[in-house]
Amino acid sequence: MKGFPLFPGSVAPRNIFPPRLSSLSPVFARLGPGSLHRRSNAVDIIACKFGGTSLADAAQFRKVAEIVRADPRRRMVVVSAPGKRHKQDPKITDILLSVHDASRRNMDPSQAISLVRERFLEIEAQLGIDAGIAASMDDFAATVQAGADRDWIASRGEHWSARLMAAFLGATFVEAEGAVFLTAAGLVDERTWSELPGRIPSTGISVMPGFYGTDTHGKVKTFSRGGSDISGAIAARAIGADLYENWTDVSGLLMADPRLVPDAAPMEVVTYRELRELAYSGASVFHEEAILPCKQAGIPIRIGNTNRPLDPGTRIVPEDQAADRPIAGVAGRRGFSILQIEKTLMNKERGFGRRVLGVLETHGVSYELSPSGIDSMCVVIDQEDFDEAEDAVLQELARVCEPESIEVERDLALIATVGHGMSHRPGVASRLFKALSDSQVNVRIIDQGASELSIIVGVDGNDLQKGLNAIYRAFVN
Ligand code: ASP
Repeated sequence: MKGFPLFPGSVAPRNIFPPRLSSLSPVFARLGPGSLHRRSNAVDIIACKFGGTSLADAAQFRKVAEIVRADPRRRMVVVSAPGKRHKQDPKITDILLSVHDASRRNMDPSQAISLVRERFLEIEAQLGIDAGIAASMDDFAATVQAGADRDWIASRGEHWSARLMAAFLGATFVEAEGAVFLTAAGLVDERTWSELPGRIPSTGISVMPGFYGTDTHGKVKTFSRGGSDISGAIAARAIGADLYENWTDVSGLLMADPRLVPDAAPMEVVTYRELRELAYSGASVFHEEAILPCKQAGIPIRIGNTNRPLDPGTRIVPEDQAADRPIAGVAGRRGFSILQIEKTLMNKERGFGRRVLGVLETHGVSYELSPSGIDSMCVVIDQEDFDEAEDAVLQELARVCEPESIEVERDLALIATVGHGMSHRPGVASRLFKALSDSQVNVRIIDQGASELSIIVGVDGNDLQKGLNAIYRAFVN
C-alpha cells in the first residue's frame, strides 16, 4: 500500500495538545541500535525526515533549516528530492524517471536533464552556497549517456537534495550508498544496523539522502516510491533517536478519510497497532516498512507540518502510551464478497472450516474474516482476489465440503472502528450499533477480536459513506 499520510488533512488541525516535545512521555532511549531501554522522559536526540514539498524550492529549504536549527536535539536530517512547488509542477523523481525512460528508448533525455539541472542550480544559487551541483550534473549527464541504471538515476534527486541541505546547514553529508542496505525484495537489510551507525558523527548535524541504499550486489537501489519515510525511520534507529519527526505538508493524520468524512478531525495520538489496523481497513498510510524500524526500537514518531511547524501534528507511539479515548479513528473500504456455506450439523463435522480455508488457500485467495453460525460458515474475501478463482473455488468447495448451498454476495464494505480504548470500556459497541441503526445502515457482518482493538462491521457497499459518518459522529463531537 502506497501513500502517506493517513487521511492527509487539507486543513490545519485544531490545537489539541501543546507542541512541546517534553510532552512525549515516557519515551525510550536506546543503548545501541534497536536495543530497548526505558530510561526517562527525556528526548535527547531527534531524527527528522523532510518530504518533497518541504524541499520544493529555496524558500522551503530555509524553512527546513529553521526547524532543524530551532532545536539542538535535531541531529539527524533525512531529505526527499524536491517535490511539487504547485499543483502542475513535476516532482524531481518523476523527471528523473523520465530521463531513464528516454535513454532506455534511445530518445534524447537532455530536455529532462536540463529541467533537473535548472531546479537544483536555482536552489543552490538562491541559498547562496556552493554544493558542487554543476559539476555533479555534468557527471550525471555523462553517466546517463553511458546507460546508467534506473535506480541510480532516480536516487540522484535525494542525493543532490542532501548535499544542498548539508552545505546550507554546515552539516556532515552522510552518503546512504554503502551505509543503508536493501534486500533483494527491497526491504531493509540487517547489514544496515552494523554499517550506518558508525557513519554518523557523534556530534553536530548529519544529513542523509532518503529513498535509496545499496542492494545485495553492491548497486544503488531505491525503496518503493515515497521511500524516504523508510530512510528516515532507519536513520532514527541508527542514531538511537528518542523521536522520529516526519515533516510533511499537512498537520498530522486525520481520524477518517476526508473524502468520505469531510470534517474529520486530526488525531492527537495513535499507536503503531491502531495505525496498522486502520491501514489494513482502507486508509492509505505510511509505508508499513517506515514504521517498522521505529516500532522495533520503540521510537515514537511525530508527523509535523513544515509550513506550520507549531501545529501539534500527530504522535505515533508504542502501545503502552495509548491515549485514553474510545476510538483512534474509523476506516473502511468496498470491494469484498461474502461466501456463505450452509450445511446442517456443520458444527459437529470436524475439519469443515479447515477444508473451506484449504480450498481458498489452494486457489491463492486469502480471507479477511470468518464469522460462523451453527449450520453456516461465512468467509469474507477480497473481490479482486476472488474474481478469477471464483468458478474453481465454488466447484472445489462443492466437492470437498458437500454443502447444502453456497452463496456469493458481492459489494460488501468493511468498516473498522479502531481504538485501544475500547477494551474494558462498556458501551462502545452499543454506541456504534445505535449510530448505524439510527442511520438506517443494515449490518451484515460483525467481528470483534479478543484484543478489543477494533470492531469491524460489514455493510452494503452503497452504505459505506453513510456508515462511516454515523460511526464517526457517534464518537467525535
Ligand atoms: N522522491 C521519492 C518519491 O518521490 C521518494 C520520497 O520522496 O520519499 O517517491
